[in-house]
Amino acid sequence: MPTWVWACSRTGLAARKINLKQAILDLILSHPDLQGRFAEAELVGDIKRFGLPLGSRRRLISGNGYLLTGDAAHLIDPFSGEGVSNAMISGRWAAEQAEKCLLQNDFSAPFMQDYDAAVYNRLGKELQLSYRMQQLLDYPWLFNAVANKASRNATFGQMLSCMFTDLDLREQLKKPSFYFRLLFNR
Ligand SMILES: Cc1cc2nc3c(=O)[nH]c(=O)nc-3n(C[C@H](O)[C@H](O)[C@H](O)COP(=O)(O)OP(=O)(O)OC[C@H]3O[C@@H](n4cnc5c(N)ncnc54)[C@H](O)[C@@H]3O)c2cc1C
Repeated sequence: MPTWVWACSRTGLAARKINLKQAILDLILSHPDLQGRFAEAELVGDIKRFGLPLGSRRRLISGNGYLLTGDAAHLIDPFSGEGVSNAMISGRWAAEQAEKCLLQNDFSAPFMQDYDAAVYNRLGKELQLSYRMQQLLDYPWLFNAVANKASRNATFGQMLSCMFTDLDLREQLKKPSFYFRLLFNR
């Protein structure tokens, strides 16, 4: 777990010159939870990697005669890597905008701005918070403290999993007091 978390941070990867393909092989050979599961496994091809278009910052997602949705609009959650629901949400707003464009016969960039606003009103805060959480991965000792506490304490674990859907709860992760309590209230 620590190595994996460490490897997932983009800045950590660059700074520590981690080769992800090698890291996954090393993990499978050395991690106590993975060794057994992959003991009989055989690598049958190259390990492929794919960069996910993360929603780490706000982008322009429409213009003259076009609307970008889902991955094309970089809407993947930067922390969880999930993009299906955000793609569907943006698709819904894109459909509404397309209808408005047809009714008004206006496909200009300024008219499309309502679409950007609708998508980021719905997803902006969530994406921003997830980006903060992704940055937390740059402090593996802190992230591991959170994960270890979650595995020891069922109530805390439950709260942490609720943070994936409850934005108000997730706001706690921005507060230093959250980590202070975590580290010193055992
Ligand atoms: C390995 C991996 C694992 C993932 N796991 C998860 C997960 O567990 N949960 C989650 O929520 N998200 C996950 N994601 C992210 C998720 O798959 C994407 O965010 C989501 O599918 C984006 O939907 P989309 O409709 O924007 O794009 P896509 O699902 O990529 O759909 C785009 C479609 O357009 C087609 N297309 C491309 N070019 C053309 C063209 N010129 N003409 C016609 N068609 C074209 C493509 O073939 C494709 O079918 C994962 C991504 C990867 C790579």
